[in-house]
Amino acid sequence: MHPLEALDAGLADLRARGLQRRRRTADTPCAPRIRIDGRDVVAFASNDYLGLANHPALVEALAEGARRYGVGSGGSHLLGGHSRAHARLEDALADYCGGFAGNPRALSFSTGYMANLAMLTALAGPGATLYSDALNHASLIDGARLARAAVRVYPHADAEALGAMLADDEGDGVKVIVTDAVFSMDGDIAPLADLLALAERHRAWLVVDDAHGFGVQGGDGAGSVAALGLRSPLLVYMGTLGKAAGVAGAFVVAEETVIEWLIQRARAYIFTTAAAPALAHAATRSVDLMRGDEGAARRARLLGHIEALAEYLARRPYRTGADAKAPGLPRSSTAIQPLLVGENQAALDLADALLAQGFWAPAVRPPTVPPGTARLRLSLSAAHEPGDIQRFIEVLSAS
Ligand SMILES: *Cc1c(COP(=O)(O)O)cnc(C)c1O
Repeated sequence: MHPLEALDAGLADLRARGLQRRRRTADTPCAPRIRIDGRDVVAFASNDYLGLANHPALVEALAEGARRYGVGSGGSHLLGGHSRAHARLEDALADYCGGFAGNPRALSFSTGYMANLAMLTALAGPGATLYSDALNHASLIDGARLARAAVRVYPHADAEALGAMLADDEGDGVKVIVTDAVFSMDGDIAPLADLLALAERHRAWLVVDDAHGFGVQGGDGAGSVAALGLRSPLLVYMGTLGKAAGVAGAFVVAEETVIEWLIQRARAYIFTTAAAPALAHAATRSVDLMRGDEGAARRARLLGHIEALAEYLARRPYRTGADAKAPGLPRSSTAIQPLLVGENQAALDLADALLAQGFWAPAVRPPTVPPGTARLRLSLSAAHEPGDIQRFIEVLSAS
């Protein structure tokens, strides 16, 4: 078969299985009210949990950053691209989320995907064993592959099963436990305290991807680890700056020795151009907002929305479509609220029906979620109005 024909056949197969993805094009900034594909909708689709992505203070900070530092960084961090703006951001992040470490330091990245590749490849090489939650984010799975370590997948959020695996592996090779803190498609939270106890007992690293918890979890938004008051030199914390922080990029916070090791050894850090310093400048301003009164007010508002929607979803009977065997999902207390549908086409049909009534609630299908668990992934933002949630619930009830 001609290589191009093979791709055509592959695409036709995806269409036939209800797995074709398509992008919707927004003409407006990220906000609950947006215009996509020429249609005005209320969106439950973004990870802009605090509604900062279009905040005037951050728009101004980005413009000011560009005036002060220009647009491009011009190089990798080790070859001229590391700017005062990156250094300030790293200091602010170590101060904000580094409470778990004795001597915390932060390292900034252009994306969370890169940060995850960097952490896992630098901490776990060949000969190491990586213990990975079954529902971890794709970027952690790819990092594990790239690390060429042995990978053992433990059942979702099951610290007991993980404990048995660790007890089983007596060798003194490097061990790394890796987990999402807030799971990106279910919204449930990993048993971080139990995982840390295991890490301490077995002298393993605990790598926590808090992409959906940073800025949101904990009274001051410092994230899922800080919210639990955990402390350990074995914790390696990753957060992203393109979700609650509303900007772009990511960071790792850990003991200063760990960060120094990443700078020396993490290829996904070393061999890529540093993010625009203006972005780091804007992200630093975002940290100020998240830590201050404005962040607290936005988290309180978000919590009200979460409670309203979670309460409705708990009462709603599951629509499991043709696949009645689809398991239920754990309850979520976070801004990610899944509505389980089951079959791919049924999830798409429900999303289309909602769109026709002015609500954008994206359907998520395999391989992003396990087969038979297609769902609407509803995500809430402090920028939603209480009335948005109420009207959405009314429309959902009728569909
Ligand atoms: C979004 C996300 C990432 C990737 O972060 P980007 O900055 O978007 O590359 C990593 N892990 C999880 C759990 C995520 O949700």
